[in-house]
Amino acid sequence: MEDTKHVMLVGEGARQFAVSQRFEETDLLTDESRKAWKKWKKEQNEMTPHDTHDTISVLAQDSNGNLAGACTTSGWAYKMHGRVGDSPIIGAGLYVDNEIGCAAATGLGEEVIKTTGSFLVVELMRQGYDPTAACEKALNRVIKRHNGNPDFQIAYIAIRKDGKIGSACIKWSFEYALARDGVNKLHKIKGIV
Ligand code: ASP
Repeated sequence: MEDTKHVMLVGEGARQFAVSQRFEETDLLTDESRKAWKKWKKEQNEMTPHDTHDTISVLAQDSNGNLAGACTTSGWAYKMHGRVGDSPIIGAGLYVDNEIGCAAATGLGEEVIKTTGSFLVVELMRQGYDPTAACEKALNRVIKRHNGNPDFQIAYIAIRKDGKIGSACIKWSFEYALARDGVNKLHKIKGIV
């Protein structure tokens, strides 16, 4: 976004641009991943992002109150070729509005995209919802669409402009790390359903 006029480049164009920016081309496939993929090919078990969960969403606020966020993932293992997840989509996997707050997601990207999840969390904070209530309300939309009991996970984390943090997940449990005032702590929350 700083080096071109665009918001997103994909596929071959993205590769060419990365090379022009002196990123090194390298094969990231490890022997371990190749073995796991071969095993999966034989068994062809359906997998959700929860089974192969790896998204890292980071939200930050500096001492001047400015907000920032990042989201990185390898997405959904053994997905269909060409599948795009929520993590790179602005408003889905991540959304930052420096006036109101920021939010980020992990979990089943398709459902996060369909509800413009992180944008929704920030918009709910704009309407006055507490960060955790905003995360829960955004998840409740998904839960409702899946008859009250989805068989997949989505979790949101959020920071409001005043520094209040929030989080929620659909089911099971979810852990997030909070670093504040020199203390790093892991927090575990329980699912809504
Ligand atoms: N959200 C990611 C995706 O759907 C998966 C994950 O959270 O691990 O691509």
